[in-house]
Amino acid sequence: MKFKLIISLISLFNVFNNSEINEWGQTGHRVIAQIAQEYLNENAKDSINKILNGKSLVSVSNFADEIKSDRKYDKYKPWHYVNMNLDDNYGEIVLNKKGDVVQAINYSIKILNNKKSSINERTFYLKLLIHFIGDIHQPLHVGRFEDRGGNDIKVKWFGKTTNLHRVWDSQIIDSHQMSYTELSKDLPILTLREINKIKNDSILIWVKESQSLSKLIYSDVISESNLGFHYKYKYLDKLKLRLLKGGIRLASILNKIFS
Ligand SMILES: [Zn+2]
Repeated sequence: MKFKLIISLISLFNVFNNSEINEWGQTGHRVIAQIAQEYLNENAKDSINKILNGKSLVSVSNFADEIKSDRKYDKYKPWHYVNMNLDDNYGEIVLNKKGDVVQAINYSIKILNNKKSSINERTFYLKLLIHFIGDIHQPLHVGRFEDRGGNDIKVKWFGKTTNLHRVWDSQIIDSHQMSYTELSKDLPILTLREINKIKNDSILIWVKESQSLSKLIYSDVISESNLGFHYKYKYLDKLKLRLLKGGIRLASILNKIFS
């Protein structure tokens, strides 16, 4: 009996463990927040400190995923991604009335820029903004409708069944076995010129970049294929660059809001 109970507990754990709660995994969002922290100017640091009541960007970076388990926040679920065809331009598609990650980012910025917003609104939408600028840099958050951004593409990761979306959310990063602080120091080194360009790219460019990478990812995976070391090292640098760009852009947006 006891043995059976343990087995059911293990399967229950796996059900939760395999849920779609983690996006960019917790580590990915923390890395982006950590990089952003380093690029913030003093004004932004002060304002954010007040709005988050002394909490760090890192500590709130997964808030938008955490609230998914509370039905009260169901309307925010479509705000984490945008699905479109691989050749679509975001500026030309029919927008999802329930929102998408681009609308979510613009809306959160609007709330933070509005002097009439209450402190509660500011706190809530700042936490969302920190998270969604992370999500939009995960290439498969700009994936196709038909497979829900790779969620319906079954693959194996080091022999274990998973899906392509989850490989990119967390499994490549987790297999690297670095903490968010270690990983945030293990990213590509960019020139000042490159950093300035990244800071000033429009949100449509962020979408386009994720879309081009997701195109490559889709073209490179045969359903049920077993992904492992070879795949990880093929894409690790590209993934790291997405984290770095996400962090730089998050800081740049926050510096503008709180200038
Ligand atoms: Zn998310």
